[in-house]
Amino acid sequence: MTLKQAGTKVWIDGNFVDERDARVDFISNSFQYGFSVFEGIRAYKTDKGPAVFRLKEHIERLFKSAKIIGLKIPYTQGEIIEACLATIRENGFDECYIRPVAYIGSGGMGLSPEGCDVSVGIATWFWGEYLGKGKLEKGTRVATSSFTRHHINSNMSKAKAAGNYMLFQMARVTAHQQGYDEALLLDAQGHVAEGSVENVFIVKDGELITPPLTHILDGITRDTVIKIARENGWAVREEFFTRDYVYVADEMIFVGTGAEVTPVVELDDRPIGDGKPGPLTRKLQQIYFDLVRGNTATHPEWRALVNKSR
Ligand code: PMP
Repeated sequence: MTLKQAGTKVWIDGNFVDERDARVDFISNSFQYGFSVFEGIRAYKTDKGPAVFRLKEHIERLFKSAKIIGLKIPYTQGEIIEACLATIRENGFDECYIRPVAYIGSGGMGLSPEGCDVSVGIATWFWGEYLGKGKLEKGTRVATSSFTRHHINSNMSKAKAAGNYMLFQMARVTAHQQGYDEALLLDAQGHVAEGSVENVFIVKDGELITPPLTHILDGITRDTVIKIARENGWAVREEFFTRDYVYVADEMIFVGTGAEVTPVVELDDRPIGDGKPGPLTRKLQQIYFDLVRGNTATHPEWRALVNKSR
């Protein structure tokens, strides 16, 4: 995917610049070594104008990611929240994806980023169904990756840090090349970890099961799904499980800001359940989309209105 929207503005350190002019130096620590942290957030069209889903939690995670890797963001969380809202207004989107990045855009040719200035940039663009058109409805086909999710002492799994994503890129591209929509990564012990940019749930005997946070990203959609499932009376357990446990699950779901709540209907060429999106997945999808689009009065604190005067 390339960004074909010349003319959109990117917020960089307090100023809006044309997307073409949002650049980093070739000799810059973040470009050379992937030393940066980022977020992926969605704004949805609601009857109160565009609303950003769980913006506060995403920006909190951006700052936590920075703390984990040792990057000092020279803004407050409130300033970055306001800057995200201003960027959506500036570009006039009803619905969009929002990508804040904290990075070193100049200097730091050696590994150490010490003494370099830290910048923040925020881009917005339209992003439809992340896993491909029609997949939310029909479900996706997933393959277990031969790449192992980083050991918890290698890359910091709670940091949404750019350098971590080369592994996910390789897993996803390999899955695509082999004819699947997405990859499922196992951890170093062989337990199910997560997708390349999705957390995973399975359904067994009416209960939702998801891996504990030990070795995965603390996904905001995962948290949303756990909360809405419990609010609706479904049991949710966090426990380690293996790929063969998924093969015999009733349902499997990939969740993430990009993937939203996507049914997985096949893993490693084995149908999950009857090979169709399951009933609990369907109900969760409906509750999730009602929430993000503001078709329900519940959790108004999760929808940050872009145009506050409305
Ligand atoms: N795992 C990884 C590795 C991810 O990159 C993402 C996307 N941020 C997720 C899970 C899902 O997280 P979220 O629901 O916060 O988007």
